[in-house]
Amino acid sequence: MKLIGLLVLVACVSTVGGFRFSSSRSNEGRFAKILSRVDAQAERVDRLNQQITFLETKYDILLRNLDSDFETLEYLDDNVNDIRPKRCPEGAIECANNGKCVDPLLVCDGFNDCQDESDEKDKLCRVVSAKRQCAGLPTNGRQSPINIDEANTKCLKNGDIRVSIPSNTCNRVLLKNKGGHTAQLELGKCDYSISGGGLVGTYSVLQAHFHWGKHLKKGSEHTINGLQYPLEMHIVTKLATGKSTCAELAVLGFFFEISKERNQAWDALIAGLKDVKKEDQATVLDKVNLQELITGETDSGFYRYFGSLTTKPFSEIVIWTLFKETIKLSASQLAQFEKLLEHGGKHHIVNNFREVQDLNGRTVYKTC
Ligand SMILES: [Zn+2]
Repeated sequence: MKLIGLLVLVACVSTVGGFRFSSSRSNEGRFAKILSRVDAQAERVDRLNQQITFLETKYDILLRNLDSDFETLEYLDDNVNDIRPKRCPEGAIECANNGKCVDPLLVCDGFNDCQDESDEKDKLCRVVSAKRQCAGLPTNGRQSPINIDEANTKCLKNGDIRVSIPSNTCNRVLLKNKGGHTAQLELGKCDYSISGGGLVGTYSVLQAHFHWGKHLKKGSEHTINGLQYPLEMHIVTKLATGKSTCAELAVLGFFFEISKERNQAWDALIAGLKDVKKEDQATVLDKVNLQELITGETDSGFYRYFGSLTTKPFSEIVIWTLFKETIKLSASQLAQFEKLLEHGGKHHIVNNFREVQDLNGRTVYKTC
């Protein structure tokens, strides 16, 4: 615009000059020179205008390229874990923040192993769950229960190893002979939640049920160094905060041992078993205090691994926490479980445990 203005100004001066000097020959010569200079200036202005147009076009192109570069950068940033060359061994996942190689079992599992939750980010979890089916293992590779071989466990590197168990009392809890398979405490209405112990979120307690053997022998589902306990209790909880592909459920497992003493904290529940002998029979327990049932046992530390439900449909969505310290019941208290009846009412429910499954290369952790 400035150059066009200059051209107009020069043209005006020359036109005025034209009238002023038209009668003189020498003036005509000077006027011609001025005109040719004006022409030259006009040509220069044209060239400059062309350059401006060229530069404007180039600027537009650069701007567009920059936009697309930014988009590419954003994309790379979002997908860095998929795109950049893998520096971790085959099967491991590289943490976004510190380049640490993480066991794929620890990705999207509700377990914050990268310390910055990058292993729990939705985008990565989607990729991992689609490509690696949660644990980098084929389906049916993470089944439960398992035998825990103490010598082959890794220390759980997490400061927060205490699982926080609700302390409040729950009134009017239903105790049920569930389908002729087990005794089940319905705790869904109790507003019980658990957290801590390396669990990334808060889990709501749904129910507690039991697995037992025959004649007070070999009833637990999990075994420790090949040892099978007479009874195992599972407190089943569901993730209430956030999402976790491999740890939608957290099950707390407790092993039982026979003691000489009667465990008074269990009196009401054991007494209730007498009222639910038949399939789907239920009774109401006036008061249940979860913490009293398991007092002390959660301080002893636990084993942790990723596995499945031990009953159909055996979904591989469970983060297992198995407490080391056992709960003690007297032989006569334990014997009450075996008095429950199966479907049809002819047989007692015994040996309602699943056999131990292959570890399939999974890591079992323990508090150290
Ligand atoms: Zn169970």
